[in-house]
Amino acid sequence: MDTTRPSAVEIIARLFASEGAADYLGEPVSQAAHMLQAGALAEQAGAAPELVAAALLHDVGHFTGTRTGHDLMRGTDNQHGEQGAAWLTQWFGPLVTEPVRLHVAAKRYLCAVEPGYLSRLSPASVYTLGVQGGPMRADEITEFEASPHAGAACQVRRWDDQAKDPAAPVPPFEHFAPLLGALAERSGDTGPNGRR
Ligand code: FE
Repeated sequence: MDTTRPSAVEIIARLFASEGAADYLGEPVSQAAHMLQAGALAEQAGAAPELVAAALLHDVGHFTGTRTGHDLMRGTDNQHGEQGAAWLTQWFGPLVTEPVRLHVAAKRYLCAVEPGYLSRLSPASVYTLGVQGGPMRADEITEFEASPHAGAACQVRRWDDQAKDPAAPVPPFEHFAPLLGALAERSGDTGPNGRR
């Protein structure tokens, strides 16, 4: 067995422990705590393992691409849904990566179609909404609704919005390690020859 090459779980755990724990991006909880809370909310809701993983990993794109979450907070859209999904495709299938890719689109969608949704967003989320294009236009709504992953993306988005509570319990990353390991294994991250 190739013991020199880190597994998906090891690489993701490192991200949560380093940049993820250090960055707040305008919220009262760190990005790591935010994502762990989102994963816990998905789990409590009885979501499928892929959707729990999507909720847990939805914001990794703030740390994995050429533009960071700090660029976003300074007014440049960092496309963190796309960046995160692209990074995660090395280990996970579309049931994990597509809700991640679409979770910003889901915010823009819900702002357009659901009265009162925007007023429940955090101040940082309202700020970034403007950077990300604002509420969807009619043609964008049609296109979003046509995606088979639109519903899952909206579920992830609602857990995302709730997962900013400094008083809420935060499970350790290790809690999710078996779930992530099993999903990565199913996608081929199984050993020295299977690892991608
Ligand atoms: Fe988020």
